[in-house]
Amino acid sequence: MTTGIFRRTLAHGADLLAAQDEQLYELLEREQQRQHETLAMVAAASMADPSVLVCEASSTSNVTTEGYPGARYHAGCEVVDEVERLAVERAKEAFGARYANVQPHSGSTANQVVLCSLLNPGDVVLGMDLKAGGHLTHGASASMSGRFFTAIAYGLGEDGLIDYDAMARLARTHRPKLIFCGASSYPRTVDFQRFREVADEVGAYLVADISHIAGLVAAGLHPSPVDVAHVTTTSTYKQLYGPRGGLILVGRDAELRTASGKTLAAALQDAVFPYLQGTPRLNTVAAKARALGQVCTPEFRQLAERIVATSAALAKELDSRGHHVLTGGTDTHMVLLDVGRRGLTGRIAERALESCGIVVNKNSIPGDPHGPRVTSGVRLGTNVLALRGMGPAEMTECAELVDTVLGAVVPVGDRDYELDSTTRAGVAARATALCHRFPLPDHPLPTRAVAPTAAVA
Ligand SMILES: *Cc1c(COP(=O)(O)O)cnc(C)c1O
Repeated sequence: MTTGIFRRTLAHGADLLAAQDEQLYELLEREQQRQHETLAMVAAASMADPSVLVCEASSTSNVTTEGYPGARYHAGCEVVDEVERLAVERAKEAFGARYANVQPHSGSTANQVVLCSLLNPGDVVLGMDLKAGGHLTHGASASMSGRFFTAIAYGLGEDGLIDYDAMARLARTHRPKLIFCGASSYPRTVDFQRFREVADEVGAYLVADISHIAGLVAAGLHPSPVDVAHVTTTSTYKQLYGPRGGLILVGRDAELRTASGKTLAAALQDAVFPYLQGTPRLNTVAAKARALGQVCTPEFRQLAERIVATSAALAKELDSRGHHVLTGGTDTHMVLLDVGRRGLTGRIAERALESCGIVVNKNSIPGDPHGPRVTSGVRLGTNVLALRGMGPAEMTECAELVDTVLGAVVPVGDRDYELDSTTRAGVAARATALCHRFPLPDHPLPTRAVAPTAAVA
């Protein structure tokens, strides 16, 4: 049956590109190299392995159609129908869901689908404040979710944790039709049950957005919202190590009737297509199927355990070096630092670390005096470190590297900085060496070092 044509096509494609478009090919080579030799600690990132990447590059990308398996608007879908059914089955299995839609082009789109299928323009949405750690699509004024709907925001208490009582009071006062829980920069366990109680009390839909913690949820290391919330959404490229895309899941409420008379599952199905999207990216659906298949393995559970243990160790090590770790620690893959207390901005910290081969992102923190392009915080994550096989033991060194840079950097205004070249070269060499000691599994090793930081002995 297998003729090897899939494999030969991809290899030939890479050869063609190298022969015909050297400029682009070199850029792609450089990016691959960068990923090998920098210490990736962006909490919103992971790394899809080559078996996921080839699905994205596959010729399923050439199939133009609309609709769902068995009900397409074009011929030629016999094979991709099976691919999509497989992705749906694996999504349901990975999360114990009754309904899954694998077509959303992104996590943001998944949230837009949910908003547009369940609400009317102007309806009240209660979501977590962007500065407290919420996501743009949960009602922020810069986003369609905050412009087409009447958005109310809840936030954190003095302790840096979600203020559930204040959230409940806001819900009673404003009677939202939909409540978002789940966040982009919140390192602690979310009490989905508590949110559902409030949603039921005021007659709102509860939507749990697990974009950041989907891997921990699938592995059973964070309580699952799938049977608690009405709808669960996630992006697939963060902790699922999959392609860029989104998922919509429904658990026990799949057959619940919505105002339109449709079941919740049917309303969401119609909202992805034809309401908001057109042709599905079937190559991405194939890549989702592959990533979701990996999520169901014991190896993934071990990875998830390492993610959490590594993150807890990182938080502890940074704290012991005098850094201000928000909420005092973490329950997830994420560690948030307030660098404002050291006289730095998030932007300066991000740039100084990057110059040493350590990739993080600046992040607004509660009460941040700076805007989103400067900020006072830094967000770290351990998805990629754990994938590389690092564990708590290596966090002593990672924290030391971060601490060395943040201790040596001299801010110049809010945006610029100076860092002495000896510190930079020393940290960069150690970061690269650490990456070499813990290579990305299943990625072929680079054969030459071109990263600017790798040349330092
Ligand atoms: C990243 C993120 C999203 C958006 O996902 P995209 O696929 O990047 O659009 C949505 N919600 C939360 C909580 C996120 O962290």
